[in-house]
Amino acid sequence: MAQAAGAEGSFEHCDVAINTQQEVSDLYTRLEKLGEGKFGTVYRLQEKSSGKIRAGKYFRTRTAREKGAARAEVELMNLLHHPRLVQCLAAFQSPTELVMVMEYVAGGELFERIVGDEFEHTEPSSAQYLQQILEGLQFMHNQTIVHLDLKPENIVCVSPGSHCLKIIDFGLARQLAPDTPVKVLHGTPEFMAPEVVAFEPVSCSTDMWSVGVICYILLSGESPFLGDSDMETLSNVTAAQWDFEDETFSEISQQAKNFIRQLLQKEPGRRLSSSGALLHPWLQPQPSSTKVLSKERIRQFLTRRKWQKTGRALLALNRLTLLTQSPERRVSEAGDEEGPSSSEQLPAQEEEGGVSSAAPGQAGSRE
Ligand code: ADP
Ligand code: MG
Repeated sequence: MAQAAGAEGSFEHCDVAINTQQEVSDLYTRLEKLGEGKFGTVYRLQEKSSGKIRAGKYFRTRTAREKGAARAEVELMNLLHHPRLVQCLAAFQSPTELVMVMEYVAGGELFERIVGDEFEHTEPSSAQYLQQILEGLQFMHNQTIVHLDLKPENIVCVSPGSHCLKIIDFGLARQLAPDTPVKVLHGTPEFMAPEVVAFEPVSCSTDMWSVGVICYILLSGESPFLGDSDMETLSNVTAAQWDFEDETFSEISQQAKNFIRQLLQKEPGRRLSSSGALLHPWLQPQPSSTKVLSKERIRQFLTRRKWQKTGRALLALNRLTLLTQSPERRVSEAGDEEGPSSSEQLPAQEEEGGVSSAAPGQAGSRE
């Protein structure tokens, strides 16, 4: 296990080879459940030899496709050794499941911390969070790895009192190759970029759109594209229709608004890159404004997201996916819709380099 110097000291990291000789239970004691996502259940683990606390993501891998997806996440994480990105420290493959052992990030979601009494919520503190998110992204984007699922739930605090952040959940992340366009149709409507909704090729700029949405919400508690239904949200994204609502943004600086404006550009090429965003004046040290921003609207945002995650959105999203699928694919994927369907993410659908995983010539019919 290597220790490398990061922005705030050292961070543990290592290149992980998937262990097929031992069971995860030989080396770790499984403690309580931490969370559940579309691809797996996450438990707190304790390493028997050291007593160290870890997080273990359990993937069911009964089919070759499930196995491939889990292995891909581990392989990608081997490229992502950076203090702002959650680290994978070991992996175990049994006949039916793959367990990814990660560093344990104890602080929970950033937005949950912000609404707590101990955290001050100001423009400078928000700019510091954005800076950290961008540092992690810059490391990914330098390797043309896109996260594709950036949203408040995937930005977590290292410990309950810490302002130090990490990006988690690389389940949808991809490494892009030159000249090989990748189209995806997954993500969470409120944070999805217009090119994803249009089933056009993604790029590092796709993540930058989501950064713009996260920043907008951080400063105002309002979600810029949220409609009354998921279809309406997706249509607002496609139209790139948004504005700074007078009441909520009246106290926000021009620099902050300019930062958001340069990210929420419909045309991906016009958005700031992660390196460019790090140089934006809003993120440079400046005389601190101590103006306190509203936590109440962020509280309301969190409450709504919690309800949403119980599955209300899934129906509308499935409908949208069906619109873009060939009849053959609809049938072949019908069996995949079991499992923890409480996610409000779009079910995964991808097309790469013109070779569609759906029937030839039929995926991407929305183009
Ligand atoms: P999925 O790809 O299935 O969405 P995630 O990686 O997002 O899975 O994990 C699901 C949930 O488990 C997260 O929302 C978070 O609450 C918790 N979790 C994931 N990784 C960690 C970690 N390293 N430390 C602590 N909690 C974690
Ligand atoms: Mg997740």
